[in-house]
Amino acid sequence: MAATFEQLIDPFGRHIEDLRISVTDRCNFRCTYCMPEEGMQWLKRSDVMSFEEIERLARIFVERYGVKGIRLTGGEPTVRAHLPVLVSKLSKLVGPDGPVNLAMTTNGATMRLVADSLKQAGLKRVNISLDTLDRTKFHQMTRRDELNNVLDGIRAAQEVGFDPVKINAVIERGTNDDELIDLATFGREQNVEVRFIEFMPLDAEGHWMNGKVVGQEEIVEKINAVYPVEVLPARGAAPADRFRFLDGGLHGEGSPGSMIGVIPTITKPFCGDCDRVRLTAEGDFRTCLFATKEFDLLTALRSGESDDQIADRIEAAVATKWAGHQINQVNFTRPSKSMSQLGG
Ligand code: SAM
Ligand code: SF4
Repeated sequence: MAATFEQLIDPFGRHIEDLRISVTDRCNFRCTYCMPEEGMQWLKRSDVMSFEEIERLARIFVERYGVKGIRLTGGEPTVRAHLPVLVSKLSKLVGPDGPVNLAMTTNGATMRLVADSLKQAGLKRVNISLDTLDRTKFHQMTRRDELNNVLDGIRAAQEVGFDPVKINAVIERGTNDDELIDLATFGREQNVEVRFIEFMPLDAEGHWMNGKVVGQEEIVEKINAVYPVEVLPARGAAPADRFRFLDGGLHGEGSPGSMIGVIPTITKPFCGDCDRVRLTAEGDFRTCLFATKEFDLLTALRSGESDDQIADRIEAAVATKWAGHQINQVNFTRPSKSMSQLGG
């Protein structure tokens, strides 16, 4: 008999189809827009989900609710020991539309070392963060002198055949907004889609302010002045608005480097189409990056609850997913956790 799937639908009719799993809160970088230089309180090892626990929760999302995509994140996912073992477990999960589409977001610093084993284990797609091409600025923004390793990591990801390899660039006014064209040029030349991300109020040090946000309109206008672009049709639930270079890029129409994306969280929220939910490294379930409430699934799992009981908790949590974040409203409350603790 064919398996039956339930759909996870929130009060606003949005189908939940994408799960972000943070595999660790730790990181080998200290990006200024994410973590403090020192003083992060790391989770105790025993409080972090084991691979078996992650697999069990992920199985419920994929096999019961037909979640199509899982993205591993952190912290920095590649600092978790034996990550390919987890990837191998998750890549075997099959939902109604076939095997789960497994992706990872990484800072790329050790990609050269892990790309092959992650690919062999079943990882399909990677997003690598790269906010600047200037070595000094890279050092300032990440507090690590790792630009060359990240650039090499991007090449390694392409060589092993992750498809696609995308670049995430957080743009902060006064820091790297003078590099929009350089980053666009990098994407065209290296044949990768660069996704420009609006700076969000999720930095641990609380230095975010509206004036530091470079909005989608400005990003596209500046790039368009050098490399004319046009918007591509509707993005569905994907967070990025996508634009194609009118000249087709340097690697042909439709190639990764013939496009850019912008994630306009602040100036043009896409909450109406959001299909995402998140699990933090300690197994807390969140229905929005900016949610102020989370649901502890790991304690439930460790106390011996059945899959049905955990599924009830997931459904109850999804019933609280709000219509959208309130960043531009006076009553916006920053989550108490920062990006690396949430699993961005
Ligand atoms: N360590 C990995 C990395 O940096 O790619 C994965 C985790 S990181 C939290 C996920 C993504 O969130 C990265 O692309 C990072 O640039 C982005 N990010 C972190 N803090 C942010 C902020 N305050 N605003 C916007 N994006 C942010
Ligand atoms: Fe680490 Fe990623 Fe946060 Fe940078 S953005 S500090 S690489 S988790």
